[in-house]
Amino acid sequence: MSERRLSGVDVTPLTGVGTAVWYRPDADLPEPPAPAEVDGEAELAAFEDARDEAEAELDAERERTAERVGEDEAAVFDAHVQFLTDPQIADGVAERIDDGLPAAHAVAETFDEFVERFAAMDGKMAERADDLRDVRDRLLRLLTDGERVDLSALPDGSVVLAERLTPSDTAQLDPERVAGFATVTGGRTSHAAIFARSLAIPAVVGVGDALTSVADGETVVIDGTTGEVVVDPSDDTVAAASEGTEARVREERVETADGREIEVAANVGTPAELGPAADRGADGIGLFRTEFLFLDRDDAPDEAEQYETYKRAIETFPEGRVVVRTLDVGGDKPVPYLDLPDEENPFLGERGIRRSLGPDADLFETQLRALLRADADTDVGSLAVMLPLVTTVEEIAAAETVLDRVVEDLRSEGIEAERPEFGVMIETPAAAFMADEFVSHVDFFSIGTNDLAQYVMAAERGNDAVADLGDFRQPAVLRAIDATTTAAEGTDVWVGMCGEMAGDPALTELLVGLGLTELSMSAVTVPAVKERVSEIDTAAATALAERALAAASRDEVTDLLP
Ligand code: PEP
Ligand code: MG
Repeated sequence: MSERRLSGVDVTPLTGVGTAVWYRPDADLPEPPAPAEVDGEAELAAFEDARDEAEAELDAERERTAERVGEDEAAVFDAHVQFLTDPQIADGVAERIDDGLPAAHAVAETFDEFVERFAAMDGKMAERADDLRDVRDRLLRLLTDGERVDLSALPDGSVVLAERLTPSDTAQLDPERVAGFATVTGGRTSHAAIFARSLAIPAVVGVGDALTSVADGETVVIDGTTGEVVVDPSDDTVAAASEGTEARVREERVETADGREIEVAANVGTPAELGPAADRGADGIGLFRTEFLFLDRDDAPDEAEQYETYKRAIETFPEGRVVVRTLDVGGDKPVPYLDLPDEENPFLGERGIRRSLGPDADLFETQLRALLRADADTDVGSLAVMLPLVTTVEEIAAAETVLDRVVEDLRSEGIEAERPEFGVMIETPAAAFMADEFVSHVDFFSIGTNDLAQYVMAAERGNDAVADLGDFRQPAVLRAIDATTTAAEGTDVWVGMCGEMAGDPALTELLVGLGLTELSMSAVTVPAVKERVSEIDTAAATALAERALAAASRDEVTDLLP
């Protein structure tokens, strides 16, 4: 039989091949007995016992997740405990038991009512329905003595298939043993997807009912790059998939074949991503998107909390550099408690450094204090501070003044603060044009191609309809990159790239040829880019870049690439 391809939403750009194992946690309850036969008091006691036991389990899983994945991800279990102990839910269960239902049936009916309510809401609230299902299934398992399928002890090489995976399900998966997972439902930002990325597990979600055609024991390839699930794959497909999973992790730094060192670093947004980035051989962090520390919460993290996070980041890379970008909110990254203005064109409004030098000046200062204190208290690694969305020399100078003042303040408090490396993102046409003026103010540039392509090409980064225009291979984008590297030539300013373009191995030679000496990307692509760097000859790369810069169209550039 020939292979079958099912398509869903790509979650983790990794490929895995293994044996399908269906995970079906929902136990169908038998018909309830007649109300007269139900001992209400005993059922209520059974419910309360199950609730206590569930709470103890959740506490243990919370701890385990905090250790293996991270504090932020572990917080989801707090939400589970809240549902578990919610008085409205407890009252609903008690009322149904009072009406003559056994505890398990009362739990199922009550939770299903709340699941329906949440599922009908928009966005984040709808995602809470998954949390409710998770708590319901846990209680049902405890009440029915059901054997829970042990996701933490699956045979090596299992590909888990499920209707959906809850956060606690996903956190149990051991990345060393599980080859991947695919689910019928789910989107890119679902909790399961976030956990999968943090744990570097190949995953595809939202495949739809077609996934149920896959039988236990069938061989399956999970292609987290294309979002495909290949069932009963051909030998060629398996070979290609296995190649993908075997990209050798290189702990050591890499240089081109003719000896030019290229730093290959990782982009992170949460502390949970630090460990996996180091595990995949990243030399350091080239972009810490600190705004992620400010999302999904009711108020900003204070200096102490930020200090702990930055210290952990620096300590994770004792030999490397950690580039922390100051808060970049606005645009497509709203933060409800910051009271961002309602703008017609948020990408062209109060974003990034514009807010840090304006309405968020206090947050900016707190963040710099936390960063410099973390740096002062670690005797390993090195910190670099980077400003987002810079367009003018005045912005750099104003931020520099705040940085210098924070250094002085800390010193007067007896803290041995040092001025860290200081740089800016080049992600606007203005910054690329003015890079030759910026060089005397900074230690480095990092090119943010996600925004640079958007602003150079006037093509919104999230809009599929203009995706071809916003492509990194557009000659106009390449010329903006070239303007930046040329401006830094002959100075001490180093130039890196932290936009998505940096993580595509097909573009590595071109980027080296354009003069970049640091590339920072999603951790999963670090091994492949390191491998590519080691094959490159700098003279050939420079010649390639020259031809690409002379190209008149994206197609001409594409034709030049491997
Ligand atoms: C970029 O714009 O390329 C970048 C790295 O920043 P972000 O994607 O966070 O806007
Ligand atoms: Mg950007």
